[in-house]
Order: sequence, then C-alpha cells, then structure tokens
Amino acid sequence: MESSKESSAPGSTSASTSTFPNALCFGSDLPAAGVPCQVEVTPVGLHLLLPQPVGGMRTDETVPFAGMSVKAGGFDHDQLVVTWPHQGNSRTLYLKDPSLIASFRRSAPPELIPHLERTAGKVRRVRLGRRTLLAIAVGAPLALVVTLWLGSDTLVNMAVSRIPVEWERAIGESASREFIAGQTVVKEGAAVAAVQEITKRLTDQIPDNPYQFQVTVVRSDTVNAFALPGGYVVVFTGLLKKAESPDEVAGVLGHELNHVLLRHGLERIVKTLGIVAVVTIFTGNQEGLVGLAQRLGIELITLKFGRDQEREADLGGLRLVHRAKISPDGMIRFFERLSPADKQQVELLSTHPMSAARAERLKTEAASLPRQEPEPFTFAWKGVQAAL
Ligand SMILES: [Zn+2]
Repeated sequence: MESSKESSAPGSTSASTSTFPNALCFGSDLPAAGVPCQVEVTPVGLHLLLPQPVGGMRTDETVPFAGMSVKAGGFDHDQLVVTWPHQGNSRTLYLKDPSLIASFRRSAPPELIPHLERTAGKVRRVRLGRRTLLAIAVGAPLALVVTLWLGSDTLVNMAVSRIPVEWERAIGESASREFIAGQTVVKEGAAVAAVQEITKRLTDQIPDNPYQFQVTVVRSDTVNAFALPGGYVVVFTGLLKKAESPDEVAGVLGHELNHVLLRHGLERIVKTLGIVAVVTIFTGNQEGLVGLAQRLGIELITLKFGRDQEREADLGGLRLVHRAKISPDGMIRFFERLSPADKQQVELLSTHPMSAARAERLKTEAASLPRQEPEPFTFAWKGVQAAL
C-alpha cells in the first residue's frame, strides 16, 4: 500500500462515498501488519469492509457504537483508534481521514462523546502543527520547482545521503517499538537462536557495517518479514514455518538487510513526506525529521518498495548469502514458491511483489557466482520448526 494514497485518491475525502481503503484494521485473525479497510459511519455504528479477502471471503460487518472504546493513537496521536470485542478477542481500527473522523464525531452516542472530544482535540492540534510547518516550507516559490524535482529522485537521493545513521536509528527504533508493542514476541528458544545465527552469518560479511541489526521474531501465521530504517527487522513465525531450510530464511533476511543497507526505507519516507522532509534534512533538524516520520504512524511499516529497490535488495541479498557461504538455491526456491498463484502468501506479496522475472534474475546471478561448498549451520532445521 502506498501511504500517500489516502490523501491523493479522488473521493477519499468523503467518508460516505469513498471506495478506497480509508482505515487500517488490526485483529488476532488478521495479518499482523494490519489490513487496509473501508469504513463508513452509520447512525448505529461503523460499517466495515475488508477489501482483502480473509479466508477467501470479503468481510463485511457492522460494529455497533455500544461496546466500542475510542482513544487517540498512532505515533503522534493524530489518529483515532477504535477498539471493540470480536469473537473472544478484540479488533482495532486506525482512522486517519479527517472527514471520517468528523462524521464519527457527529454520529457517536453521548457516552462516547466526552472522551472522543478530548481525543479529537488532540488530533486537531497535531494536524494544525503539521499544516503550519507545511505552510512555512512551501511558502517560497522555489518550493514548486523543488517539488517537481522530487519526481526525478535526484533531490530525494541527495537528502537521503545527508541523513546521519543516528537519525535513521531513531526513526526505525520508534516505529519498531510501536509495532512490537501490539505483538507477541518470541523471546527465546530454538527459533530465536537459529534466526540470530543466520543473521550473524550474514552481518559478519557486511564490510564497515554502520548498523546493529536487531531481528525480532513475532508470533503470527503471516508469511512475512520486514525491515525498518536503522536495522530493525521483524520476522514472523509463519515465515519460519513455511521455509523448508535455513537457507531459505537466510535469503529473505539477506533481502531485508539490503533494504536497510541501501536505505530504501528512508527513500520511501522522504518521497512520502516530500518537500517538508527535504527542508528538515537540509536544515539539520533531527527532531523534525524523526517527528515527521513518526507521524506516518503504522503506515511506515506498510510502505511499499519500488521495483528497482526490490531488484537491488534481491541481488544484494543473493551476494550476501553467497559471501556467508550459504547456498543461494534456498533463496531462489523460496521466491519461486511465493508465486502469485499461491493465495496464502498475500502478506509477503503485498510488501514485496513477487514475479517469475525476479526468480529468473536471481538464477542468472547465482550461476555467475563462483561455486563453493556451503558451510552448515549448527542447528537442525526440523528441530527449530518443531519448537515453534
Ligand atoms: Zn523487499
């Protein structure tokens, strides 16, 4: 999902007619990174439509106001967070669209209102602060030229290259902490030890590595992994179960580590935030940039990488795996198995679109690398999986 979609999609400003996802839904039965969904406010509650199929069906439900709780949320309290009980667990919605928040306030019953008014006040204050910042930055006529230039990537790359690793770490750390807070983390055991061993084999082969990579294993059936700026990587147990060998996990990790090393996440952040981020970087305002990135909230985790970035991460990952004396065949096999035909793999596909061309490119690259005898890992993969 492209995070700028909400604000630029025609029709998304009207909550009642929107056909675009205008909120993010979380729940124990949903993918851990959340599902973009469409929310409408009705006189009795919220009407929720999950556009992505869950269990093969589009899910359509009405959530009554009774039993709902509301608070401000997101990284900087600029989102409305609605929680309600759902099949013995709970579900949570992150609402960001201002018109949707406004119509929620109009329709919500009195008992929700006092709390809601405080929350909405917070959301308004954050928005106002952001608009003021935007007005200052875009005030100069030069800004238009610069904005056009953003499209050419030159300015984005210049800005990204000026971001110190320290800032990057602050952005990633904060986003990672926010995400992990809502998850069940696997803290020890065979799987964690194995993931750490694989990670170390790879990171030992990165010359002048400025990052301290931190890989967190999160309990979820989602077949996915993602990397945040500064070296914060999350691997879901669903991916470990799906992988048939540690070589396959190494392939995915090699790919993710390269997104970090090549600063792909930062590029996406600067592109999404636009001129405001560029000005903040060039004026050396660390707090400003970290704050802006935090306001992207949960969207930071679902930022979609570009096709070129995926290709770079694939090739960089393959070479890293090879340098670590791990067979690149695992990476290629795993990517082949994640073909779009396999409908269970929606999560990994949504953040890292797979294609036959990607696997083919990896095969060609692997064939060009010198043959070598892989070095085995210290654990037995079947045992690691059995411990999950
Ligand atoms: Zn990727």
